[in-house]
Amino acid sequence: KNDARTATDAAASRQAAASGRPAAVTVRGARKAFGSKEVLRDVSLTIHEGEILSLIGPSGAGKSTMLRCMTLLDRFDSADFSYGDLEVCTPERGYLPQAVREARMRFGIVFQNYNLFPHMTVLQNVTDAPVVVQRRDKAEVEEQARALLARLGLTEHADKVPDQLSGGQQQRVAIARALCMNPRVIYFDEATSALDPKLTADMQQLMRELADEGMAIGIVTHEMGFARSVSDRVCFLFDGQIAEEGTPEEVIEHPVDERTRSFLSRAE
Ligand code: ADP
Ligand code: MG
Repeated sequence: KNDARTATDAAASRQAAASGRPAAVTVRGARKAFGSKEVLRDVSLTIHEGEILSLIGPSGAGKSTMLRCMTLLDRFDSADFSYGDLEVCTPERGYLPQAVREARMRFGIVFQNYNLFPHMTVLQNVTDAPVVVQRRDKAEVEEQARALLARLGLTEHADKVPDQLSGGQQQRVAIARALCMNPRVIYFDEATSALDPKLTADMQQLMRELADEGMAIGIVTHEMGFARSVSDRVCFLFDGQIAEEGTPEEVIEHPVDERTRSFLSRAE
């Protein structure tokens, strides 16, 4: 109980510190419809440098749509949307093509199924985008990639192909690949759904280290236990709207909104 108290206090003070730091990504008033179905209805969300934010909520709430739009795989119908001081979309002017290209350099994504290139080695998976997309020097990128692989415990797997690795190892390759782009924001889609408890704990520690280095981290998850223990801040999305937002203590332990309460009581 004391440990829980301490963790809660730590999350609250981290959140207070993070909210004073610059925003790494900001979305205000986001709207998105598929046909006549409004999937995002005036959603606002900010992730600060050094902050871990989880987006939670029931199936169909709009979490994946929000993530797809924030990662420019899809587009909001309307929003005020920036990466740092780079305005990507405004309600008046829509998407700004040059800013969209620049914004793609500012974030990395770790997909649920990792999306590794099956025919490339681990090292090639990690170096491909920095060399091809970012047009960086190949030797310099390889040096960074090997350092990242070492950090993630993958040194001896550098020349293997993804099929030769376990799920947890493949996920760490996906993380190394995202980090090698030197992003300011990293997104995780259901980061822990395929991991055992030990790997989940490792993942939590890694996310905390990255946040402490200043990375902004956005997580979409349906796993309340993980969201509870890793997040500085939690946003509960319900039917295309943020129903509740706050520390994990506030949103997951003591929800005020009736929709959050009902979802969490069913999720137990
Ligand atoms: P979540 O990730 O929270 O489960 P989604 O963002 O996947 O929610 O979906 C939100 C709503 O949008 C759902 O009703 C879903 O059926 C609908 N939806 C998502 N993608 C599409 C699409 N490409 N075309 C039509 N409807 C979609
Ligand atoms: Mg989803």
